[in-house]
Amino acid sequence: LTGQFRQAIEVLEQIETYGYDAYFVGGCVRDLLLGRKIGDIDIATSASPDIIRQIFEKVIPVGVEHGTVIVRHRHQSYEVTTFRVDGDYSDQRHPDSVQFIQTINQDLERRDFTINALAMDKNGVMIDLFDGQNDIRKGVIRTVGNGHERFKEDPLRIMRALRFSSQLGFSLDENVLNAAKSVLSEIETIAMERIVQETAKFFAGAYIETGLYYFKLIHAAEHLPILRENPHMIEQLPRGIKPLHSFGAVIAMFHFIEPAISIDEWTRQWKCSNKMKYEAAALSEALFHYKQHELDRWLVYRLRPYGYSNFVTLVNILFESSLSDDMVKKIEGSLPIHSKKDLAINGAELHSLFPDTNAGPWIGKTLNHIEKQVVLGELSNNKYVLKEWIKWNPHVTD
Ligand code: ATP
Ligand code: MG
Repeated sequence: LTGQFRQAIEVLEQIETYGYDAYFVGGCVRDLLLGRKIGDIDIATSASPDIIRQIFEKVIPVGVEHGTVIVRHRHQSYEVTTFRVDGDYSDQRHPDSVQFIQTINQDLERRDFTINALAMDKNGVMIDLFDGQNDIRKGVIRTVGNGHERFKEDPLRIMRALRFSSQLGFSLDENVLNAAKSVLSEIETIAMERIVQETAKFFAGAYIETGLYYFKLIHAAEHLPILRENPHMIEQLPRGIKPLHSFGAVIAMFHFIEPAISIDEWTRQWKCSNKMKYEAAALSEALFHYKQHELDRWLVYRLRPYGYSNFVTLVNILFESSLSDDMVKKIEGSLPIHSKKDLAINGAELHSLFPDTNAGPWIGKTLNHIEKQVVLGELSNNKYVLKEWIKWNPHVTD
């Protein structure tokens, strides 16, 4: 074991020194076998959260009720979770209760898919109770145990199956497909924040086309906000769809396909943060601007705070273009200013040109207009030039 695992092994060894078992589990083991970039390294152990807090110096209690703490070791974070079995999921969100256990087997049994139910010890030896390694080799997603029961227990797992197929390019096995179809309506009971999280990962998947194939096959849209009432939107997604690395970009894409549904409606129904809402709005504005004016300085200027990569991807998806980040960066290099603060004149100076007029919205509006003209190169960013221009155009309110 090399790379990120080398330091993580020290955490396992430390726990074992105290007489407890510890393994790497979940996504990191799966991704190691696939040769994918490893995200977080998760550890499962027979030691209770209290014991872990005694063993390590820096422990952050993030979910002690569920047996999870974060251990800081050599400036890295590891999620360490005590072996457990889950009680009922009556709120379909968290298990009502969890019970800590001494051995790993039942802990692996509670996990969603066979590819996620592998454990690996410090020597790289696998515990593979459900043939997960074989499923990784074959590229299939199978539930641990009966699909129908596992999806009933937590319907979010249906969305997770879709996102793993989009991330890994794996197929959903027959049993998963049938179970997903029959339990699908229950995803409506799941907290929207969890749905958004999985949907965002779904659209960011490197194999989004595979993911979408299964998404359509099980009619997932029928139980998701907005898509439920507008099934045509999924059908109208372009064939050459590419991974989008923020949910704001996903919303902008759908809004471009169906402008009748506003960004506000999207972010309200999908319960998005304001930050996501502003990003979606900026990307969407940029797409409509691009449709009319192609790539110009104003567009690049407006997008600067959000980064360009999602916009470039959206343009390539929706206009079948081959825009690159470099083309945008080149225009960025020619911007005369980078924000309103860079303007050679400010609100107070502007007001002083018209001492008889009260301060009011006209000041902001005039500055906005000047800002755009400066960015587009119609006006040069020079105090004298700007003052003269304003004196001659006192009624700009655009
Ligand atoms: P990623 O690389 O996206 O983090 P992951 O497999 O680590 O993928 P997580 O959501 O971080 O996915 O979950 C970590 C592990 O916890 C999973 O691999 C799985 O074993 C288990 N798990 C997570 N969510 C569920 C769930 N809803 N039901 C059952 N097991 C789950
Ligand atoms: Mg993870």
